[in-house]
Amino acid sequence: MIRSVAIDGPAGAGKSTIAKIVSAQKGFIYVDTGAMYRAMGLFYLRAGVNPENTEDVEAKLDDIDVSIKYENGEQVVYLNNENVNGLIRTQEVGNMASAISSNANVRVKMVALQQELAKSQSVVMDGRDIGTVVLPDAIVKIYLTASSEVRAKRRYDEYKAKGIESDLATLKKEIEERDYRDMNRAASPLKKAEDAVVVDSSYMTVDEVAAEIIRICEEKGL
Ligand code: C5P
Repeated sequence: MIRSVAIDGPAGAGKSTIAKIVSAQKGFIYVDTGAMYRAMGLFYLRAGVNPENTEDVEAKLDDIDVSIKYENGEQVVYLNNENVNGLIRTQEVGNMASAISSNANVRVKMVALQQELAKSQSVVMDGRDIGTVVLPDAIVKIYLTASSEVRAKRRYDEYKAKGIESDLATLKKEIEERDYRDMNRAASPLKKAEDAVVVDSSYMTVDEVAAEIIRICEEKGL
């Protein structure tokens, strides 16, 4: 039987860290849908398309093929057969992903790919619209959130660990702008599914959040 876990929430709430732990624990495949939007964003950045220009964004849609493979247990995202995993984690690509993900036709394409992935196997999938649109029948739905201050600090520390200089106030501002765009777009805005459980990770450690979500899974018989 295929039984999936949907984890939604704003940028930097810790979704991917937690989804990886929960998927490993349950033996499910982890699907990072943000990476797919990021691959699309990378394409549009390279093509020099203005994300506000709907016509230009849509004219290029058929030139883009995003696919997912699993190599050594890791999700690898291919953009037109190029492994782009190492290129999509920048703030620039994230902002472009956020901008183009408000396009309904971009979303239709990505949602179809995500539903296909979850058809043949149990998954832990994270994103913005998983519990509401992609997997409305998921057994467990989590809405994972944290304050924008805490999320900005986490991103800052992540960048620092990678040797990337950043500015905390700028990161916070960008996170808040991205939240606003994600929550206020017409096409599948980020919102809590009615039957999702809210987990606020602001003052919780990674282990505490993972334990809480595993407890919720067990409560639902997973
Ligand atoms: O989660 P991540 O920061 O990698 O996502 C990048 C952007 O992709 C988000 O800001 C959001 O706009 C978009 N996204 C989305 N729907 C998803 C996953 C990501 O719109 N399911």
